[in-house]
Amino acid sequence: MSVHNRITAYIHMGAIAQNLRVIKENLRVGTKIMAVIKTDGYGHGAVPIARMLEPDEDIWGYAVAAVSEARELRNAGLKKPILVLGYTFAEDYSWMARHGVRPTVFTSQMAREFACEASAQIPGGFTSGKTPVHLAVDTGMSRIGVPDTPEGLDEALSIAQMDGLQIEGVFTHFARADEKEKSSARSQMERFAGFCDSLNEHGVTGFMRHCSNSAGILELPNANMDMVRAGIILYGIYPSDEMDRERNHLYPVMELKSHIVCLKRIPAGTPVSYGGTFVSEKEMEIATIPTGYGDGYPRSLSNRGNVLIRGKRARILGRVCMDQFMADVTGFHAELLDEVTLLGKNGEEEITVDELGAVSGRFPYEFVCDIGKRVPRVYID
Ligand SMILES: *Cc1c(COP(=O)(O)O)cnc(C)c1O
Repeated sequence: MSVHNRITAYIHMGAIAQNLRVIKENLRVGTKIMAVIKTDGYGHGAVPIARMLEPDEDIWGYAVAAVSEARELRNAGLKKPILVLGYTFAEDYSWMARHGVRPTVFTSQMAREFACEASAQIPGGFTSGKTPVHLAVDTGMSRIGVPDTPEGLDEALSIAQMDGLQIEGVFTHFARADEKEKSSARSQMERFAGFCDSLNEHGVTGFMRHCSNSAGILELPNANMDMVRAGIILYGIYPSDEMDRERNHLYPVMELKSHIVCLKRIPAGTPVSYGGTFVSEKEMEIATIPTGYGDGYPRSLSNRGNVLIRGKRARILGRVCMDQFMADVTGFHAELLDEVTLLGKNGEEEITVDELGAVSGRFPYEFVCDIGKRVPRVYID
């Protein structure tokens, strides 16, 4: 699978399928899955992943963070419902209503504006149909959503009563489901269930309740409800280092590979890279690797990170530049164009996202999201 590129991201579609199987094993029959493919599928490529998931009957639809991401999916011909998880701006409402892209609403002002734009799209106005929206409820993130208070309930009811709108889903988001101690997540779940019950008691019914993220899916089965929002675990990454690896085995999806483009022998006392932060103490053999922070490979790996060459760990020497860095291959018998694994397996050795996150001081989610646009994605099986 060797393509000579500066750096290539190999995306293992079979691993996504296996992670989806793990997700389903944690769900009751009938619970739907919303595939969270924001930030271009956490850096893995939203469109190819959605194409793979589209025929699966358990996949209700997709979640994104920006309307531009929804446009990309619709332009690629994907048909399933899309929810924009965050705030959306009135300029986009008309397009969203026409393309089955659900906004997240949490004020009656937003809901009114959306209803107005949606009705303009349907001949005959409000009488012809109801446009679906999802209502966000804040139960502990203090981010977006109507508060789960009597005032919040009033706001939700006023949205529910609006002509032309259908509350298709009601959701909340966990702040601490990825921690070993689940009492905070459980309390959010109970507050959310209570809020949904109050809506029911006021005659607002028929909506899907969804609150679980990846961490909830894996370790809080009671939170699954009607639908779950699966993000990071689709990509084979655990939501945190407190998650039980024995309970659920995930399959890493992304590998990052490069090649050695220059080999040189340097005498003792030679500085390497900007600032001379590494100086050889003996004669060494070093390799130049054409990848850098311009590709999203963090500069904080300077003098700290490892790469894999010929099945062995090679340490990074000096600073990671924008487009290149150097590694120690003394005694490796390395050759020009040898494969360099930045993430993934090489022989018996493996570098995981968890390791890269820990060494670079980045959150694993952030690491994959930040792999740059100039890194080609190559899809395998
Ligand atoms: C990003 C996001 C998710 C997915 O979270 P994961 O931890 O990746 O599963 C779910 N819901 C909301 C509201 C989000 O913003």
